[in-house]
Amino acid sequence: MMMTEYKIAKGSAGCPCGRVFGEGEPFVAALFEAGDSFDRRDFCPSCWSEPPDTYSFWHTRTPRRDEKKRENPVAVWAFFEALSREADPQRRKLAFLLSLTLQRKRILKMTGSRREGTREYLLLEKKPECTIFEVEVPEIRDDEMAGLREELVRLLDSTV
Ligand SMILES: [Zn+2]
Repeated sequence: MMMTEYKIAKGSAGCPCGRVFGEGEPFVAALFEAGDSFDRRDFCPSCWSEPPDTYSFWHTRTPRRDEKKRENPVAVWAFFEALSREADPQRRKLAFLLSLTLQRKRILKMTGSRREGTREYLLLEKKPECTIFEVEVPEIRDDEMAGLREELVRLLDSTV
C-alpha cells in the first residue's frame, strides 16, 4: 500500500504560561484524554509538572524553519506504551499503527504471533529491556486509515 503524505501545519501553541516556543526550542508535549480522542498540550520544561491526568508525554523541540516533517520515535513510543494497555477497539487501532512505525524504526521487533478465535495478536519485543508487548491486529477499513493517520500526526507532530 502506498503511504499518503498529509500536509498538516502543526506548530506548538505554546505553554499555558503564555510563552511561545521559538525555532528549535525544547518543550514537553503531553497528551490528555478528551472524549473519544486526545488533546495535546505543550509546556516549557520548567513549567512541566506532569498533571495527574497526563496520558503520555515526551520531551521534544520545535522544528527549525528549513526542517522537513520528521519522525519522532520518542513521541511514537510514549503514546504506544500508554495505548498498548488499552482494551478500547479504537485505541487498539492507534496502537497497531504506531507499532508498525516502531518496528520500522527497529524499536520493536516481532517475535511471533498468536490467534485467539478470530483475533490475531503480534508479539513484539522492545530492546534492550526485552519487554514483550502483545498488539492486536485490528481490522482497519481503507476509508478509516487516512483519518487514523491524520490523528496520529496531529497528536504527535511526527510522521507515522
Ligand atoms: Zn511555561
